[in-house]
Amino acid sequence: MEEVNVHLPDHALGEPIIRLEGVNKFYGQFQVLTGIDLSVRAGERIVVCGPSGSGKSTLIRCINRLEVVQQGKIVVDGIDLTAGGKNVDAVRAEVGMVFQQFNLFPHLTILQNCTLAPMRSRGMSKEQAEDIAMKYLKRVRIPEQANKFPSQLSGGQQQRVAIARALCMSPKIMLFDEPTSALDPEMVKEVLDTMISLAEDGMTMLCVTHEMGFARSVADRVIFMADGRIVEQGPPQEFFGAPKHEKLRQFLGQIL
Ligand code: ADP
Ligand code: MG
Repeated sequence: MEEVNVHLPDHALGEPIIRLEGVNKFYGQFQVLTGIDLSVRAGERIVVCGPSGSGKSTLIRCINRLEVVQQGKIVVDGIDLTAGGKNVDAVRAEVGMVFQQFNLFPHLTILQNCTLAPMRSRGMSKEQAEDIAMKYLKRVRIPEQANKFPSQLSGGQQQRVAIARALCMSPKIMLFDEPTSALDPEMVKEVLDTMISLAEDGMTMLCVTHEMGFARSVADRVIFMADGRIVEQGPPQEFFGAPKHEKLRQFLGQIL
């Protein structure tokens, strides 16, 4: 069923952890996603790119049910998001998300940002949540910022907090929506380095990004979207070396 299997490295040979079949999504009359079929294996790293407005954010927001779809099926780690019912909390606990605009709570300290969800939805004690938070703040190399507020940190630091905060929930999947697009150029690398280290640890990742250097070196598969469809996908070497669709060639011509 998965045409790219032959290219997948060992770390991505697991069972599909994300499966979308025939997904159509509308905003009113406007069809934002059309016929999306996508299967992601545990450990796989996917980069999604495409022109502005092509549906990239909508696609990944559907995977943690920030958006609902009208047609098709979405199954995440065995949880059918399209079956209705109480599956939202279950999937949110397994899927971490990092946004372009960090989305930290401005009135909470860095540490409090990281401990809030584990205490509220995992029922962790404050002490345990703080231990875990400090572990991940060390991991993203800013433990010394723990008692500051978001506004006191640089953009790159805030985005690393956002990553640490997501990791505190022990997600199985991490979704990134243009995590470096709002950053000053000198801060892009520190965030990409954090993402690379996550990838090296085997995290299943879907990253919407136009950082094509990252795509080349980290992605197992690059997906190109246009007009709400997956137009082309493949391992980076093929994707960049021999793009088939005219729209992709145009797109690569603009961004590379
Ligand atoms: P991308 O992330 O690729 O830029 P989006 O998924 O954000 O694309 O948006 C895809 C299309 O859907 C765009 O035309 C956008 O204007 C439209 N859109 C996004 N969110 C909404 C919404 N909440 N209501 C109506 N239209 C939306
Ligand atoms: Mg977007």
